[in-house]
Amino acid sequence: MDTSGNSLPSPSCPDGKKREVCYYYDAGIASVDYGEDHSMVPRRVDMAHALVRSYGLLHDMRRLRTRPATVTEITGDFHEPDYVRLLQNLTPESFYAGGATMSAAKAHNIGVLKEGETFYDNPPIAGLWDYCQRYAGGSLAAARALGEGKADIAINWSGGMHHACKAAASGFCFVNDIVLAIKDLLHHFRRVLYVDIDVHHGDGVETAFLDSNRVMTVSFHQRTKNFFPEERGHVNHVGEGAGLYRALNVPFMEGVGDEGYCEMFKAIMKRVVDVFQPEAIVMQCGSDSLSGDRLGQLNLSIAGHAQCVSYMRSFNLPLLLLGGGGYTVNHVAACWCYETAVAIGKEIDDNIPVHCYDTYYSGQGYKLHYPVDKQLKNENKRSYLERTMTAVLENLSHLEAAPSVQFQDPPGPGGSGSTNTEPLFYEQAPREDDDPMERLHRLCGERDERCFFRELGKKRQVAKDRENGGHHQTSRPEPVKKYRHEKFHFKC
Ligand SMILES: [Zn+2]
Repeated sequence: MDTSGNSLPSPSCPDGKKREVCYYYDAGIASVDYGEDHSMVPRRVDMAHALVRSYGLLHDMRRLRTRPATVTEITGDFHEPDYVRLLQNLTPESFYAGGATMSAAKAHNIGVLKEGETFYDNPPIAGLWDYCQRYAGGSLAAARALGEGKADIAINWSGGMHHACKAAASGFCFVNDIVLAIKDLLHHFRRVLYVDIDVHHGDGVETAFLDSNRVMTVSFHQRTKNFFPEERGHVNHVGEGAGLYRALNVPFMEGVGDEGYCEMFKAIMKRVVDVFQPEAIVMQCGSDSLSGDRLGQLNLSIAGHAQCVSYMRSFNLPLLLLGGGGYTVNHVAACWCYETAVAIGKEIDDNIPVHCYDTYYSGQGYKLHYPVDKQLKNENKRSYLERTMTAVLENLSHLEAAPSVQFQDPPGPGGSGSTNTEPLFYEQAPREDDDPMERLHRLCGERDERCFFRELGKKRQVAKDRENGGHHQTSRPEPVKKYRHEKFHFKC
């Protein structure tokens, strides 16, 4: 099947472009704090949501209900019960009290950096269990929506925690919502394809399905000395047992840009879909592969990153889009907002609308798309890319035909391992769609959000005037327009 990246017609998308998209967002995740100086900032999902809302994209999607995952769902047949119990009971207080709790946490790779001790990057954060329930609940609800045929594309930007292991935290991830979601999808689909474009190798997911012939994992990642996770992600790691050649790895050196990355991505994924013939796709869209990330050293633009999403969308298969890494938060939010628009099939303006987080985008000129780092050297020579491509395609050639997988009837509502049958969607958009600052303003007695921004602008102008010698502007500011570049008082 040659889609060449174009959308194909399907019964639900007769125009070959429109998709039924559903979207999960939980405001509770924004307040999760990994601690001072930690790279992971869950509020980035709130920033992405605020952008999605300010672009008016919520009107183009159905909202998935927020139902935190239960203990049974999180344990599934993946996480070990002892580890899940630890996550349920661990608090910063119980950890710092020392003793058995601290020892158990450290045994499961949860701890804090202290001089002279082993480095732990998975801290005992306040509200840890609640956080895990919320992001895992989102991915499970999204998988259910796809499994039950109620959506073509389901999005959970707070999910995508691809490093979490059966019985241990890893790489800022505690519960592996991806593994749980894939296992749920397997109740409905014979073969599920997992694609990972995070800068780090998707080790937790690959390991979980290493010997499965129903799940194929493909990870595109940076693989350089001392870069996490060092042990996995080599091009020769190809799965084992029944899953042999159903794990693919595409390692890059530092500095790969859109051209080399997207060319490899499309050529490999086209062949994977042809050969493996998945019935559903799960895509981890970690945005630490973007240029300028605080941890990654790849050099993708938002447009390049989104091209990969667009390409997977073009196969017209049920598609679950998840978040993941991403540590320059303004880039992350801009990327996931743009990819939400890609999922919907809508082109959005490059000028970022006025909203509660808009000052975070001043460094990128209040534009969604920011320039890539021209100083970063691309260590991926053409010969290296060609060698990698040849090795990956050689691995793929061992999978000549789609595996013959016995398809058992899905267990149905309430069946073993299946999520429950609560309504999947909000009938009315929840109030959390509101921008918190706008809501605050409303609750303080103002009803017109335009007035709020007008006032905000006025105050800024007064402050600016003061800086310029105390000359106060007394005339009323012009009405606020939708985009920043059209506004008189926010020019930068
Ligand atoms: Zn990552």
